Amino acid sequence: MQNVVILGTGGTIAGTGTDPDRSWQYRAAQLSVAQLVDAVPGLAGMALETIQVAQVDSKDMGWAVWRALGSELQRQLAREDVAGVVITHGTDTLEETAYLLHRLVGARKPVVLTAAMRPATASDADGPANLRDAVRVVQGASHRGLGGVVAVMQGCIWAAEQVRKAHSSALNAFDGGGHAPLAVLDEQGQWRQAASSWPVCGDVDWSVLSPARCPRVEILYSHADADGWLVEAVLAYRESHGPLDGLILAGTGHGTLHKGLEGGLSKAVARGVTVWRSSRVARGGVASREGDVFPACGELTPAQARVALMLYLMGV
Ligand code: ASP
Repeated sequence: MQNVVILGTGGTIAGTGTDPDRSWQYRAAQLSVAQLVDAVPGLAGMALETIQVAQVDSKDMGWAVWRALGSELQRQLAREDVAGVVITHGTDTLEETAYLLHRLVGARKPVVLTAAMRPATASDADGPANLRDAVRVVQGASHRGLGGVVAVMQGCIWAAEQVRKAHSSALNAFDGGGHAPLAVLDEQGQWRQAASSWPVCGDVDWSVLSPARCPRVEILYSHADADGWLVEAVLAYRESHGPLDGLILAGTGHGTLHKGLEGGLSKAVARGVTVWRSSRVARGGVASREGDVFPACGELTPAQARVALMLYLMGV
């Protein structure tokens, strides 16, 4: 039997608190990934390996962790004796890591991100079942010859480019931005799914993660009274403090922006900043339109669009 490798990065799934019934009082990223696996009876005796890649609350996710995660992932996926990889992660930025990896990982082997909304010490901890399900999905996908990146939470398999955190506290916190899950696990962890609906993957050159720094891409929100003050401030700051390479607009509705932002954003483009439009609305995304001044980001969330623009600026 081939191994499943579990890469730990921290998150609430590895969090601990002192009162099992006050699950909101805890610290994320306290237990090792080996401890998480040991705590799941359903994983006993399986061919699993654990590697601690990072130990962070994913609200603090960033390029340094992504680089470390990417190089370990690449190493593990290249092993002939590895069926696929599970990544334990925080829920806060899971959609960003999932999208980045979706663009990097080829179609040969499955990579499954999982997380938890309750710390490991909570009376209603959801991490153990999510971790068990994630391993099952790697095994099932590998068996069917499916590769690519998905996220598994609460019995649902989500496509990496669609998954997003949609609730700040509920156990069932993720959705697909209007898309259904790729599949739902039954009680035995079995799932049915058309292979054609499994995500199509990037398989780009992993050396994109080599630079110690990534392009600076910031996110700007359009809202009532937005008058461009922030854009002007950013452009002025850029003069003295160095690069701003891209801006993602989290626009209103279908990626529209307050007229007060138009002048500032056009000025940003004229100064070499790439500006793309996403939407602050949870579903529907932003389609391209003829004569677009600022290109549209489709159905990516603003945070995922930021990753897409970083990759674009790196030539991917
Ligand atoms: N702040 C935590 C994290 O993202 C939340 C979680 O994992 O649910 O790491």
